[in-house]
Amino acid sequence: MADDERSVFTRIIAGEIPADVVYDDERFIAFRDINPQAPVHLLVVPKTSEYRNVTELAAADPALLAGLVGVAQQLADEHCGGEFRLIFNTGAASGQTVFHVHAHVLGGGLEEGTLGRR
Ligand code: AMP
Repeated sequence: MADDERSVFTRIIAGEIPADVVYDDERFIAFRDINPQAPVHLLVVPKTSEYRNVTELAAADPALLAGLVGVAQQLADEHCGGEFRLIFNTGAASGQTVFHVHAHVLGGGLEEGTLGRR
């Protein structure tokens, strides 16, 4: 794949771009979002760049999706008392900007009724 087709997350996984990494194993990396939308805002990213969004991931590898949710829970336990909002933006109209599947883990005192705030 040409360099300019690789997503920013693929480049973080390859160690080419620095990130504030909070979790790393064979299947996933997690790091702090560079533009946090909550007191705790982490991104959990499968290392494979095969899937553009959660729908593709769920269809092709549900075990990997389940593993991602497990990592999200572990990180929420460590960073925000175990309670969290899990967001997968899917498609540009939903706000997705990086087309390498990832989950946003938001926590640390979210208000009710803020889901979908513009
Ligand atoms: P999405 O809009 O769902 O595709 O999410 C992409 C997220 O990646 C956004 O919340 C960005 O702030 C975040 N992001 C983009 N580049 C970086 C980076 N180099 N390090 C950490 N987070 C990033």
